[in-house]
Parts: sequence; C-alpha cells; structure tokens
Amino acid sequence: MTTPPPRGVLHRWGSVLPIGPETPRISLGEGDTPLVRSAHLERLAGLDELWFKLEMCNPTGSFKDRGMVVAVAKAVESGAKAIMCASTGNTSASAAAYAAHCGIESFVLVPGGKVAAGKLAQAIAFGTKIIEVDGNFDEALTAARALTDRHPIALVNSVNPYRIQGQKTAAYEVCDALGDAPDILAIPVGNAGNITAYWKGFGECAETGRATLHPKMYGFQAAGAAPLVSGHPVEHPETVASAIRIGNPASWTGATSARDESGGLIEAVTDDEILDAYKLLASKEGLFCEPASAASVAGLLKLARAGRIAGGRAVAILTGNGLKDPDTAVRTYTADVTKAAATLEGVERALGL
Ligand SMILES: *Cc1c(COP(=O)(O)O)cnc(C)c1O
Repeated sequence: MTTPPPRGVLHRWGSVLPIGPETPRISLGEGDTPLVRSAHLERLAGLDELWFKLEMCNPTGSFKDRGMVVAVAKAVESGAKAIMCASTGNTSASAAAYAAHCGIESFVLVPGGKVAAGKLAQAIAFGTKIIEVDGNFDEALTAARALTDRHPIALVNSVNPYRIQGQKTAAYEVCDALGDAPDILAIPVGNAGNITAYWKGFGECAETGRATLHPKMYGFQAAGAAPLVSGHPVEHPETVASAIRIGNPASWTGATSARDESGGLIEAVTDDEILDAYKLLASKEGLFCEPASAASVAGLLKLARAGRIAGGRAVAILTGNGLKDPDTAVRTYTADVTKAAATLEGVERALGL
C-alpha cells in the first residue's frame, strides 16, 4: 500500500509560515493552483505574456482557502473551539469548510441579501451558523471584531495576520512557476488583504533569491466601491462584483504601500468593464471566474486601451470560481439553446445540417 504525498499550503510552504511542530497540519488540498498562459487576451492587453493564476481551483473555489488553512490551524493550536468571520461570501465558505474539517464551530456574519447564491449554498452545506446582519460588509466586520474581542472565538478575517501569511504563498508559487516575479501583478481589491499578501510574498521572494525583481502591483476596484482610488471610505459600496463590494478596506495601508513601493497603481473599473472582461475570459479563454476576479483583467484591458501598457509579462489573479454566482452568469451570458426532438433528424435540423 502507498500513501499519497501530503499536499496543501502548510506542507508545501511550512518553512516560510509562522507555524511550529504543534500546529496541526490540516489540509483540504489548497494551494498549488495552475498558472495558465492566455490564449487571446494577452495581445488585446498589449502584453508580451499574460498568465492567469487560477485561484478558483482552491477547494472551496476561491483563494481564501490559502489563508484560512493557516488561520484555522493556528486557532485550533491555540485551543479555540469556534471561529468567526464577516464575509461577502467566500471567506465564510472557506471558514466553514475548515471548521467542519477540524470539528470546531463556525459563525459567519454576512450582509443581508448581498451574498451570491453559490457561496451561501456552501456555507449552509458546511453547517456554519449564518448571521445575516442588517448592514453592509464593513458594518459586519466591525461587529465581528467587537464580538471576538469579548468572547473566546477566533476572528478569521484577513485582519488575522495568519490569513495574510497563508495568502502570500501564491506569490511564491508564481515566482517558482515563472522562474522569476512577473513585471506586473494584476489583482482585484476589496478588503485589500490579498494585494497586501502578494506584495509581502514577492518581497520575501526577492530577499531570498527566489526572484530577481519586484512586480508592479496593479490593483483594481469596482467603480462603485473604490475607496482606495478616491482616498476616502465609501459609505454605500455598490457593484455587481459582490466579493469586492467593500467601502472601507481593513488592509488600507497594506494596499497603498504595495502600490507605492512597487511603482504600481490602484484604479477603478466600471461594472460594464468588469462584465465585459468576465464574458471575454469565458468566451476567449475558457475561464469562468466570478465577476470580482474579472476586475483584474478588466483593468489590464482598460490600461491597454489608454496606451498605458508597454509589453512585459503580467500575471492576473483569478480569485474565485464563476459557479459561485450563478445569478450574474445567467443575467450576463446569452444562452444559445435550440429545442429539438430527441432523434438524429431532430438534432440535425436544430443544427441546420
Ligand atoms: C475576497 C475576494 C476578493 C478580494 O480580496 P481582498 O483580499 O478582500 O482584497 C476578490 N475576489 C474574490 C473572488 C474574493 O473572494
């Protein structure tokens, strides 16, 4: 009998994570996600190379698993019996999955009526206790922070430093796969934990000789939820990209430092631009991501149209799976369906053959 080799973020990246022998090596098989070369959009974006990091291939369908596995392992190590997060959806799906895996309780605070159907379905399936708050994400996070200060429940939002530590491992994977850091890293920005984490990861890769360069960090927010672009919090954030519908990012300074230290930018893309990229990714690349993920590609295409991209190698992070948000998919894509009799002739007629 053979045992398959261990995998997951804690096994593969344990040497660069703040974990010790007492940290349980839990895994749902997160990390080690594919990096695939663009078939069509790379030319449209004026790049020599465009690569997509398929974070949608993580076990719960978003990059949140990378940081969550570390946060939950550390919570279990410290004896926590319950975890909590505020979430636009993917954090709750991930927290609930790892809590179920570890046999601890989880509580998620979600903004009322604002969570995509697939994400809610996951949280329900994993048996988490869902508290739908009468407010937006930012208010839910404030409540979760206050509550976990008062009660012995571990907060697993990206204000938990272990989340950032786990998420930085994606930058290591990008450097290892390409043999160096890319010139540009394009990423959607909501609560800004992920851009902070990638910048940390790329910094460590450069320091330790894994990479010879630092990428320029190009962050993209939705126009209706773009506090880092305007420079002040947005009280009522609105966008079709629910994963980045956040008005007051917890990692504000992490994001602006990543932008400024890398010589990058954080700009806004409209919902129309996001949905155009969402459609192009599916029809031209065969990649079905959620709308928030498409913001990274929408941003690159927008910069290219303005003549602001002069070649080079870029990596765009596709943060979450399109199946998470079936309602937006059905509203956005046009189905090409023809009815036919269930016979050879019927199907031939339907195809015009
Ligand atoms: C959480 C999330 C984001 C935003 O990441 P932040 O770390 O909050 O900036 C983007 N896309 C998807 C699919 C997400 O789940």
